[in-house]
Amino acid sequence: MNLVLMHRMSVLLPTNLGYCHHVRAICLFLPSKVSHRPKVSHRPKVSHRRPALPCHRVRAGLGRHPGRPRNSGSGGHDGGLPAGVGCHAGGVAPVRAVLLDFYCTLVDLSDPVRSRGFDDFARQLGLRLGPGELYRRYTEMTSSEPDEDSVPGFVPYRTSWLAAGRRLLAPFGRESAAGQFAGVYADLHATAVIFPEVPDAMRALARHARIAVVANADHDYLMRCLHHNGLRFGLVVDSETARCYKPDPRIFQRACDALLVPASEAVMVGDTPDTDVQGAHQAGLRAVWLNRDHRDWPFHLARPDAVIDDLGQLLRCLRRLDP
Ligand SMILES: [Mg+2]
Repeated sequence: MNLVLMHRMSVLLPTNLGYCHHVRAICLFLPSKVSHRPKVSHRPKVSHRRPALPCHRVRAGLGRHPGRPRNSGSGGHDGGLPAGVGCHAGGVAPVRAVLLDFYCTLVDLSDPVRSRGFDDFARQLGLRLGPGELYRRYTEMTSSEPDEDSVPGFVPYRTSWLAAGRRLLAPFGRESAAGQFAGVYADLHATAVIFPEVPDAMRALARHARIAVVANADHDYLMRCLHHNGLRFGLVVDSETARCYKPDPRIFQRACDALLVPASEAVMVGDTPDTDVQGAHQAGLRAVWLNRDHRDWPFHLARPDAVIDDLGQLLRCLRRLDP
């Protein structure tokens, strides 16, 4: 077991849980305040290798990894899975573990929230820009740049944001504020707010399977965000600690190893088709696509094993995947 990847947080074991046989691998979610909605208004999100593109942009094909082989689409999907729960009934292996993406899956980091955060930052710098302008510039800039998969070695998000901040602020002669930009963006991620259904969904899920968070995120702000929302999990695997990003199969396998389950008995749940769904499939897991916005499935990717609108539908979906 790779203890390096296991960030043990205070674990509460409800008496009605059906298992408690391996505390370090058990997932335990327990919101310290079930109805708690953080008072902070910022809602971040991130989910992929490229720094800080909004999830939906990745889904739409922006920020893809051009060098990565694309699945030819064994499911023959026509793009446009129906809204609501959609499952291929009857998986071949039991579902003993569930890996959860974090940003845009458990916590909301929507474009409007990001944009407001960027607006606040622009005002701090005294930049004369209209609402949403700095964020628009940022997304256009990062989506048009070459993907970093071709760059050898691992680069944490904060380092990428620092470099991106220099480029973003250069036209204003404010490259020196790049560090400030990176800090503001990290704070946006640290203060993301959980989706309303998450507490109840996680509590129900904890009775069904082992749980882990597998996030493309730097360690510090991810931990801050968990704390900010009163979230506690027995296992959190972040990309900075794992030194790789989803869809790299190694990050999925490390989580499975820590949970003591084979990949075939684990299900990945996430909002991003390529990093969460395709990545999980390539690592031998099943995958549930969380499609909150009722988007079309990218036609070039193999379809997920199930589709849900929100995490309140997850447990019912997993029961259908269980043989
Ligand atoms: Mg995500």
